[in-house]
Amino acid sequence: PIERSPWMINHDSIVIVKKLGEGAFGEVFLAEFESGKGRKIEVAVKTMRSEATRDARLKFMKEARLMRKYSHKHVVKILGVAVHEHPLMLTMEVCHNGALLSYLRKNAGKIDLREKLRFCVEASDGLAYLEKKQCIHRDIAARNCLLSSKMELKISDFGMSDDRSIIHDDTLNKVPVKWLAPETLTDKIYSLKSDVWAFGVLIWEIYSDGSEPYKGMSNVQARAKVVSQGYRMPSPAGAPKEIGDLLHQKIWVKNPAERIDMTKCQKKLHEMWEKTK
Ligand code: ATP
Repeated sequence: PIERSPWMINHDSIVIVKKLGEGAFGEVFLAEFESGKGRKIEVAVKTMRSEATRDARLKFMKEARLMRKYSHKHVVKILGVAVHEHPLMLTMEVCHNGALLSYLRKNAGKIDLREKLRFCVEASDGLAYLEKKQCIHRDIAARNCLLSSKMELKISDFGMSDDRSIIHDDTLNKVPVKWLAPETLTDKIYSLKSDVWAFGVLIWEIYSDGSEPYKGMSNVQARAKVVSQGYRMPSPAGAPKEIGDLLHQKIWVKNPAERIDMTKCQKKLHEMWEKTK
């Protein structure tokens, strides 16, 4: 066989164990990866259907390339890609407890405030790391956070990410409107600060047990209320006052230049965490 860097792996070295979930472009599996010399490690494998469009394939490869650069306890690690056959595969660390959103919904009413704050703290750790790397995620949401076997939160789903400092996206196709900052909704501008806005919606999801943001409103209605009327969702019932204040006074601030950055959010959340001890 042709010599390949460890980043490029052979389909032969991946043995599928079971299905974990359904992605936008293909299924996600639990698998065993044989790293030569008979050593086996457990991995998650994201696959891409062969009939996927060229655009989707490029997005898939972009996710792989971007994620490869990052290494942090609260960011899902990508291990390698198998792209010499179909379906294309991307291997990454397994998060046995699945998506945060499913966990929040399944355990609604049973998750204590300390665990919710821990989720916020860990998400902010991963996101502050990405901010330092100038990585704009663009799709921060509870559906894109995963939970490890030890229930650690990991930021995932880099399909839309970019490491340019400001992105003009003229298409705004299929976008998660209810997670978008006003400047993204009006001018299609994505930045590290629009990620901070989405992080606020993630905090809101965590404290409202995975409810749908702007419930009862369509995307068009939510967009109009946020942009034209300055509407902000109320702090979730039971959330500490400091969380509500962080959302309303620091995060969901219209002007991105005046909005708090991720590193300061992380600091504030760690201060709250220290007080729970
Ligand atoms: P979408 O774009 O619709 O969010 P996607 O193509 O980005 O989907 P993911 O959301 O990354 O796909 O993955 C789909 C599902 O597969 C997740 O909700 C989760 O249940 C499971 N999954 C993904 N990655 C992992 C992982 N590393 N470990 C365990 N389960 C995973």
